[in-house]
Parts: sequence; structure tokens; C-alpha cells
Amino acid sequence: MIKPDTFRDILELSERRNKKLYEICQECEADSLEISQEEIRDRVKVILDAMKEAIKQGLKSKEKSSSGLSGDDCAKLVKKYKSEKTLFPETLQKVLTYSLATVEQNARMGKIAACPTAGSCGIVPAVIIAMSEALNLDEEAQINALITAGLVGETVSNKLALAGAVAGCQSECGVAAAMAAAGLAQMCEGTNEQILNAAALTLKNIMGLVCDPVAGLVEVPCVKRNAFLSIYAVTGAELALAGIESVIPVDEIVDAMKQVGQMMSPKLKESSEAGLATTTTGTRITEELAQKWQED
Ligand code: SF4
Repeated sequence: MIKPDTFRDILELSERRNKKLYEICQECEADSLEISQEEIRDRVKVILDAMKEAIKQGLKSKEKSSSGLSGDDCAKLVKKYKSEKTLFPETLQKVLTYSLATVEQNARMGKIAACPTAGSCGIVPAVIIAMSEALNLDEEAQINALITAGLVGETVSNKLALAGAVAGCQSECGVAAAMAAAGLAQMCEGTNEQILNAAALTLKNIMGLVCDPVAGLVEVPCVKRNAFLSIYAVTGAELALAGIESVIPVDEIVDAMKQVGQMMSPKLKESSEAGLATTTTGTRITEELAQKWQED
């Protein structure tokens, strides 16, 4: 069976065959790669294990990245949660800490699973792993969620390249948040329509997010953005599971994102020629790092 290119066709196929989105996805992948569906799930488990390991290592470390721009924020948050009253319930505390733990590992050049990219690697693992722990779900449920998230990322990528250099951060952290929202809706046993609404609601509210990394490094604003958008993904799933629908269908949202990405100035697409990268502080940091690297 060949996987359809659009969300609408995937939904139609799933409904016609009375299957969940992840079941259709794993069946199509197995057919396309000529391997069993069990092997597909084994491969996803390897990715899941890498995500868990990145979280574990990230939670243990306070080491700064080589630029010194990031690396100790997760530790600050963990310390706060151990000692002070917080605004968030324990579930969302975990989502925040797991996202920072993962993306700080990326900034330290540790091993992470890009999902969909390295810069946005903290969102999907944080939401799926933290929420599955909170909901007491097993590994099979995590794998189902990860396949669902992958299906969302892949289907968006059929129309829109997932790279800040092509369409801004909406296509990296934005898509990661939509993937995570869909995965979470799957874990909460949402219907196929609710799963796609979770992705749609999340995506359309991140539209237009620019990519303006300071000094061209995937650290500022990327690291903290992963934490923010992880919570955003939980919101998308929560709304969709309540039966709230996106008026604009998800395929059309992706078309709109593509259009917005094409209209976005190249200066706001990973070139570090505008936005946060060229603020007074961003410029100073860029100059200081350039000098440091020249001396090294
Ligand atoms: S700001 Fe740019 S480099 Fe950073 S995560 Fe977003 S797309 Fe990637």
C-alpha cells in the first residue's frame, strides 16, 4: 500500500479501513521498505531509546555549549522544581525540563534524534515521553505516538521543506510542535480527526515564526523556543481532544505556511541577517564569538 501525500487522503484511507493513522503509516512504510511492520516498530523504538537517552544525559549535565550561550537552563529549572513552588503541575514541569534537557544536549554536540530537525529536537520527545509517564502509558503507546508524529512531519514535508533556511522556524519548531500535538492526541486515544486537528491548531498558530539565530548557532533563540513550543503542543492536543476543530483544514494550513515561507525575507531564514541576530546584544555576541574563534 502506498502512503497518500496529503492529510485528507490519509484520513480518508484510515477511516475507510477503520484504522488509526499510525496503523496506516506503519503498514505503508513496511510495504515501501519491504520489511515487516514489527521491524518498522523496532526501528522506531531505536529512535525512542535515543530520545530517552538524550533526556537522561541532558538532565545530568550543566555543561555549557562551546559558545557558552546555552547548557545550564535545564539544571536551573530542575533546581527550581525541587525547591520552590511552581506555576506548572508536575506533568508540564517534566515537559519543560525534558525539552531543555534534549535541546541542550544538541547544543553540546551530544547525540539526539532530529525530529524533524536538530534545532527542534526537544519538542517531540518532551511531549511524548513526559506525557506518557504522566499518563502511565507503556512503550507501545509511545511508539504509536512517535509513528503518528512522524506521519505528520513527513506529510508536511511533502509540500514544505523542513528547514529554517527554506521557510523559517515555522517549518522546524512549528512542525515539531504539530508532530508532538498529534502524537499526544494519539496517546490520549483521540480520533483520527482529533489527531489531525491537534496538528492543525498548533501549526496555524505558529505560522510566520522566523529563523534568526544569534551568531548562526542553533542556540539563541532555539533552546528556549523548544521549551515554549512543547507547552504549545500540549495546548494543541488539549483543544483538539475537547472537540475543538480547526476551521482551516490542515492541508490548507501547510499550503499557507509554504506561501508565508516564500514571502519571508531571506534575512529571516537562517542567515542571521535580521531579527534577534542583529539586535545590539546579538551583534555583540556574534563579534565576540568571531574574535574568540579566531584566537582559538
Ligand atoms: S530559530 Fe532557526 S536555527 Fe533555531 S530552531 Fe528555529 S529554524 Fe532552527
